[in-house]
Amino acid sequence: MANNLLSEALNFDPVALRQRYAAERDRRIRSEGLSQYIPPEGDFKHYVDDPYVNTHGKRSPVEEELDVAVIGGGFGGVLTGAYLRKSGVKNIRIIEKAGGFGGVWYWNRYPGVACDMEAYVYLPMLEEMGYVPPKRYVVGQQIRSYVESLAKRFALDDTALLQTEVASVSWDQATARWIIRTDQGDTLRARFVCHTNGTLSRPKLPGIPGIDLFEGHTFHTSRWDYAYTGGTEDGGLDRLAGKAVGIIGTGATAIQCVPHLAEGAKHLYVFQRTPSSVDVRNDYPTDLDWFRSQGPGWQKHRRENFNMLLAGGVAPVDLVNDGWTAVGRMMSGLFRDDPSIAMSPEKYVLASEMADFRKMEELRHRVDSIVRDPQTAERLKPYYRQFCKRPCFHNEYLPTFNRANVTLVDTGGQGVRQINETGVVVDGSLYPLDCLIFSTGFETGTSYSQRAGYTIVGRDGLRLDEKWKDGVSTLHGMSTRGFPNAFFLSNFQSGFALNYTHTLDEEAQHVAYIVAKGLTDGARTIEPTQEAEQQWVETIVAKSALVEEFLAGCTPGYYNDEGRVRERSRRNAWYGGGSPEFFKLIADWREAGTLEGMDIVRNQAPN
Ligand code: NDP
Repeated sequence: MANNLLSEALNFDPVALRQRYAAERDRRIRSEGLSQYIPPEGDFKHYVDDPYVNTHGKRSPVEEELDVAVIGGGFGGVLTGAYLRKSGVKNIRIIEKAGGFGGVWYWNRYPGVACDMEAYVYLPMLEEMGYVPPKRYVVGQQIRSYVESLAKRFALDDTALLQTEVASVSWDQATARWIIRTDQGDTLRARFVCHTNGTLSRPKLPGIPGIDLFEGHTFHTSRWDYAYTGGTEDGGLDRLAGKAVGIIGTGATAIQCVPHLAEGAKHLYVFQRTPSSVDVRNDYPTDLDWFRSQGPGWQKHRRENFNMLLAGGVAPVDLVNDGWTAVGRMMSGLFRDDPSIAMSPEKYVLASEMADFRKMEELRHRVDSIVRDPQTAERLKPYYRQFCKRPCFHNEYLPTFNRANVTLVDTGGQGVRQINETGVVVDGSLYPLDCLIFSTGFETGTSYSQRAGYTIVGRDGLRLDEKWKDGVSTLHGMSTRGFPNAFFLSNFQSGFALNYTHTLDEEAQHVAYIVAKGLTDGARTIEPTQEAEQQWVETIVAKSALVEEFLAGCTPGYYNDEGRVRERSRRNAWYGGGSPEFFKLIADWREAGTLEGMDIVRNQAPN
């Protein structure tokens, strides 16, 4: 009954949509799961070479004692360093394999690269840095420079070991130090180590038969080859003139670079497995009067408001008010008389599904209103819930398919299944190509060490991968027993905010608090107690039900381990109570000041 009323009011058939979504998911599930992808190793190792540095940057090895080694120079590492500095920690070094700071924003320099989350909430520490984003959405180069300026501001740049890949990190019980060895021959002995490797740091390639046979030019979007394409991050790929170019993948990266490829290439073939949802990108120059009128603490307030609405919570006002918060707004408009009152869980589940259907209907109509060829338009329509995949926001992507030199090659949800010496084969048709670009994303769900690229060996020779082989085990997602004085910035067993720099900022504050306290108290080791860790894992598993139910209904992708939600995924889940609740939980934990659930061994003189 309720559904009938809703369908009248909403102008769509929820039952039919549920069936369609389930069918789209089912035909994409592959028995290989994560193993359908090839890691960038062996014959594929060159796909991860750094194209943005001229030399290998070989230097003399460093041997030294450190208070804190921070592995990773993206937002996570730099924020950790910044909060450590604010807590008075001096002896810090960042170790980073790239030639500069930025993390994902260092590597991803494809044409059109930009952040489609509002800069006023995405760029951390705006007030402190006194930085005014020139526009509502900032481009890759601006974000990279911003991370660099954060590193400079907190004096992390001069001592950073760049172009340095960590080879191993192992605990020395006798001296209570982490021994970090690198490919530059360094040996660093650190009291504390922070692993801030990022979640999308290792590119992956599709294990398509024949991928190794292709004789044309090829690269991954996160290592853009401008020497081949010409142009810059702003576009102008003039060397592609006269070339047939193919791109595999239609995720958030492809949405941004496809329009530029179409402009540059003689012909562009876009090989699609699942279409992205593409909403309007409502960009505009920053209103300086508005920006300067914001009072102290405005960014924290805005970011928390955004996060609360994205997490399905209630807030009296939608400050960001963009495509990200649209479903929440629709839920309020449709189902809440008073937006400040929380709904019952049952009503919430139904309301969010209906609002989601409505939003996605709107986005499917958007495709029809832009793409002229009806068959192409049909194929570009996403049939899944908006947050099953990364929502995209772009104004030029869909119009690109009206160009005569662009062909959408839809694979009916099956993906490309064959590549040969000259091009890509789909449904028996060969598409000859000069260049094939992989926009196929990044490794997730594999072991931590595999993604980090180095081994981590804790007390008594315990390897992290061995400890976590059946799933992650931590306290608050950031520390794990048997690995004293080691911290991780990640989204497993932690609070996952879609505005990911928000997560990193909260985690960096938390880690810096524990490390600084350990150093001032002269702690030899700090690690979770067995009981506290066990309890946290149980909390994560118990709270994963809602998230799991949602993800199980989704088309496969990296959000749901390629559609195979398993026991391991449950343990690796983020905190199911939502990131606002998690951030409060860890802030309260710090406020209590007792390091509850931590085992602390003190036998060093306080600093
Ligand atoms: P994704 O993992 O999101 O996308 C990979 C794409 O490759 C998908 O479309 C996938 O299809 C497709 N694919 C994989 N295998 C095959 C195959 N055999 N044949 C055809 N297609 C295939 O990677 P992205 O690099 O696009 O994005 C990664 C993340 O980076 C985003 O989710 C987002 O978090 C972040 N990002 C953020 C931006 C921002 O504005 N802040 C901008 C760009 C990226 P399928 O969907 O069927 O699996």
